Amino acid sequence: MIYYILALVVMVWSIIVQANLKSKAAKGSDITTRSGLTANQVVERMLSDHGISDITIEHKSGQLTDCYSPREGKIYLSDTTYGRSSITAIAVAAHECGHAIQDHEGMLIYRFRQTLAPVAGLCSRMAVWIVVAGVFITAMLPRIININPEIGYYVSIGGVIAYFVTFLFYLAMLPVERNASSRALKDIKENGWFSDGEMKLGRKILRAAGDTYAVSLASSAITLLRLILIAGGARSGRRR
Ligand SMILES: [Zn+2]
Repeated sequence: MIYYILALVVMVWSIIVQANLKSKAAKGSDITTRSGLTANQVVERMLSDHGISDITIEHKSGQLTDCYSPREGKIYLSDTTYGRSSITAIAVAAHECGHAIQDHEGMLIYRFRQTLAPVAGLCSRMAVWIVVAGVFITAMLPRIININPEIGYYVSIGGVIAYFVTFLFYLAMLPVERNASSRALKDIKENGWFSDGEMKLGRKILRAAGDTYAVSLASSAITLLRLILIAGGARSGRRR
């Protein structure tokens, strides 16, 4: 029961956060900054200010496709960011640049997140099936063949541990994202790329974007809880 209440709360929260981000980003997209610099120019300036010379900027068509790819050494900017001078474009581009700086400086939590990234996706996809397989083993197999019913429980626990890796990834994501935004805002402020009013909205946009990662973390915590409850069910099933 508690699981369903929590899941509902996070779902409503997620809708509010998405709507807030959408409205803030749309508002910022309509305003051209006073400095008139494009997102590309801001990225170039930030990179060179931080002594980074091996990263290139590329256009990636679509929306919300902005990202920093450490593997390719590229900062991808989306349709609404590439070559644009809006508050949203500058804030988003500077945020992605913040990730490049984290990488360049070898920030520990950034490295940790990067290490987990490829495994986290796989673990997230596999975990549920492993837990379900454990429950199935507990419920069915001892009736068919002579095996220790405890095995099913341990298989389920394996699934929970797999999902815990995914949870750790989301946990690491939060400080990494917040830090990239604060680096972005610091550089924007120091260079005077935003006026005071623009700064206010820029900060709100990045904060709203950061909230989406808090939602992801909460939702992964709920999934983890659910898997623990199911795995626990596998054990009580064995006791019966
Ligand atoms: Zn980011």
